[in-house]
Amino acid sequence: MQTNSAAAPLDKLAFDNRFTREMPGDPITENSRRQVRQACYSLVEPTPVAAPRLAGFSKEAAALLDLSAEACLSGSFTSVFSGNALLSEMMPYAMCYGGHQFGNWAGQLGDGRAINLGEIINSRNQRWTLQLKGAGPTPYSRSADGLAVLRSSLREFICSEAMHHLGIPTTRALSLILTGEEVVRDMFYNGNPRSEPGAVVCRLSPSFLRFGNFEILTARGETELLKKLVLYTIATDYPHLKAVDSVATYIQWFTEICERTARMISHWMRVGFVHGVMNTDNMSILGLTIDYGPYGWLEGYDPAWTPNTTDGQGRRYCYGNQPHMAQWNLTQLANALYPLIGAAGPLNEALDVYRTTFQESWQVTMAAKIGLKNREPEDAELISRLLDLLRRTETDMTIFFRRLAHVGTGTGIAHDGLKLFEEAYYAPAQLDAVYGEQLNSWLQSYVSRLRRNSIDDPQRSERMNRVNPKYVFRNYLAQQAIDKAETGDFSMIDKLLEVFRRPYDEQPEHEGYGAKRPEWARNRPGCSMLSCSS
Ligand code: AMP
Ligand code: MG
Repeated sequence: MQTNSAAAPLDKLAFDNRFTREMPGDPITENSRRQVRQACYSLVEPTPVAAPRLAGFSKEAAALLDLSAEACLSGSFTSVFSGNALLSEMMPYAMCYGGHQFGNWAGQLGDGRAINLGEIINSRNQRWTLQLKGAGPTPYSRSADGLAVLRSSLREFICSEAMHHLGIPTTRALSLILTGEEVVRDMFYNGNPRSEPGAVVCRLSPSFLRFGNFEILTARGETELLKKLVLYTIATDYPHLKAVDSVATYIQWFTEICERTARMISHWMRVGFVHGVMNTDNMSILGLTIDYGPYGWLEGYDPAWTPNTTDGQGRRYCYGNQPHMAQWNLTQLANALYPLIGAAGPLNEALDVYRTTFQESWQVTMAAKIGLKNREPEDAELISRLLDLLRRTETDMTIFFRRLAHVGTGTGIAHDGLKLFEEAYYAPAQLDAVYGEQLNSWLQSYVSRLRRNSIDDPQRSERMNRVNPKYVFRNYLAQQAIDKAETGDFSMIDKLLEVFRRPYDEQPEHEGYGAKRPEWARNRPGCSMLSCSS
């Protein structure tokens, strides 16, 4: 690997590699697959690629690094963020972590295809770790190749940025680069491998630590190292807490992780995001959405829906189960922290904080989604009647809540629900008179409730449109962008980034991107079915 000293456009990047400086690393530097003990990472360099080509970059993510659009379009940007060149201060490494996958302890996993390049301090004194995903094998690659395909990389790149603009805590994505090499994948693990274009995404996060980084240390009885990693995390990422070895501090920290996780899940539920693989190695210690794999967005409102065919049987990670799964994952983290606490009581209390924070946050969210400013005890019933109706017939969640903002409360207005929500229904032929009556009766209750709301119709509609997005990254839009990008046409990537920059605004020129899923996409792989293969 060459060190690129003449990378003028990237000169500004000021590195401060705190993780590798303060935490113990693996003494072995050979890139061979192994169990790594008593260490939090292994040094490993990206594997150079044949013909890197920039397919997209996020100007907002670049700004976090003080990089201009011009810098992102430079040749050195493409070489560095494809893994073909290292800047002199970079110190690439893969992290060691474990995880519970689909409910079972899986032992050591680790960054099998992610390589951290180092940490940047930007002009606002914020710390950002740079990480390449798909840049070649590491000691944690197990039997896999360390690579990623364009399809999954594009999905991660655009969705990270879309989530950010939706106001949802997430890791960020700087760039999407094709490697010029082919990668073989059997997309549905059904004996149909095909060659696909390889790609590398550069992700940014203040920290990429996951619940699994802590779990692996406890599983191996490495309690001193566990304590060191916890204190490191508190000092670096929770600086408002005192990084001292005390049970009270650890509990305060864990409680905050519970609160952050609860808020993140409540956001996912608000916009209909389904992560798809909520294993503990995919849960960020900062409460960020991380590891965009077979995720999806609810189109028809169905709590049992999961985009992940690998989870099609158990539906462990379906939309409606996400709040519970986050709690299950937090319980695994609590178990991992137990050696530092020595008592279950305070950990259970923190887990209760998860539950109460989620419940409160969800109630506030649902009230906001239907435009209630003040809250009344009967609101819960109004909301549950509504969700019941949405479940009864395939109703596009995103469109429904945008249309709901049009309900007026003036006297003499009679609402025809079937007409009002026409655009949101996938199977209008199934809508019978009984459904129409129930819907109208709900609308009547809603309107009388709104008459006790402390804001007027235009204000209410404006507030609703700030929590109910118009534009989400519908699965079929991702597939269309992939199909184009696979032929070398990257225009839709930029277009989607542009649309998702303002997901709550009406954008008449982009109306089509907010339309419900077309019928051709109902059963098309990539549009409604995804797998972990990426
Ligand atoms: P995921 O299901 O993507 O969260 O991955 C679970 C584990 O498998 C993590 O340790 C990943 O780094 C690793 N992994 C996934 N795909 C690959 C790959 N193509 N090559 C190497 N490791 C991988
Ligand atoms: Mg993962």
